[in-house]
Amino acid sequence: MLAFDAVPAAEIPMDARPPAAHAAFVRAPWRWPTRRIAYFNAARANAGAVRKAVRAWNGSGTRLRFVRTSRRRARVVIRYWPSQACVPGGVTSTSFDQRSGRAVRAVVRISRPDPLNAACTHWALTLVTAHELGHALGLDHETRRCALMNPTLANISPQLCRPSLPPWQWRCRILERDDVRGAVRVYGGRAKRRGRAVCDLFKAPATPGSLTAAPDGTGALAVGFARPITPRPPPHVLAGPGSFIAAARTGACPATPAEADTGFESAWTVPDGAVQTTRLLPAAPGQVCVAVWARDGVGRLSPAPATTVVSVP
Ligand SMILES: [Zn+2]
Repeated sequence: MLAFDAVPAAEIPMDARPPAAHAAFVRAPWRWPTRRIAYFNAARANAGAVRKAVRAWNGSGTRLRFVRTSRRRARVVIRYWPSQACVPGGVTSTSFDQRSGRAVRAVVRISRPDPLNAACTHWALTLVTAHELGHALGLDHETRRCALMNPTLANISPQLCRPSLPPWQWRCRILERDDVRGAVRVYGGRAKRRGRAVCDLFKAPATPGSLTAAPDGTGALAVGFARPITPRPPPHVLAGPGSFIAAARTGACPATPAEADTGFESAWTVPDGAVQTTRLLPAAPGQVCVAVWARDGVGRLSPAPATTVVSVP
């Protein structure tokens, strides 16, 4: 039923194909007769993702509120797919009165969480749930500009939102201008200022500590620095072991490795927190600035290098 293998790893459909049993529901414009939509989340392991998705809509400025209630009273029920495995994308089946366009009931299906699969991480499921709630409240796909209602996720961001994100970030804004405008048109209200667009899934490495450098008598510098404690990426992010870049520039400190006269990248040979030693050959004598960056397993540098200036005869 679901062509998992046809989907490239970086592209996750927001919607999986609806199962045949739901094909009877007509997908067409509808709206809820009240501005309070009672919902129940039966997908308990996704409670955090559902809460975030609900909060995004409820805080958007739209005059519409998803209100948590019992399963019996709920008009929108969020459920798992029948599968135990990760199912990329969700689906929403909304039943509504065809003459009046009044929505009666909606069932949203989302995957069980799977921290090893980008499509079923907490972050992806947050976006998928918010997208499905967008369908439930009456929005269709937006295929021309950046919107949560884009049909596909690229990494953990709607596909048409730019820039396309590296694997250590996600589109934490959740709702885009286009989505809120659409909902405001249906339910009234006024779009609120949105937060920042993009967040890191885990922190960049810190700057190496306690940097020392001294001529070792052979024309080289003996350099030592503490390996910073590097945040571990979530399990779905493919990451290498991490490394350091030691570099030198005569006369000024380099702000980036590219600005150095000389330098190299190497794997750490000590654990987090321990002192790494190495040797560095300055390109020219004088006041030499030694700079050291940590680089994590996904290629991010520490925001600033550790630096020290040493007189090289
Ligand atoms: Zn969709």
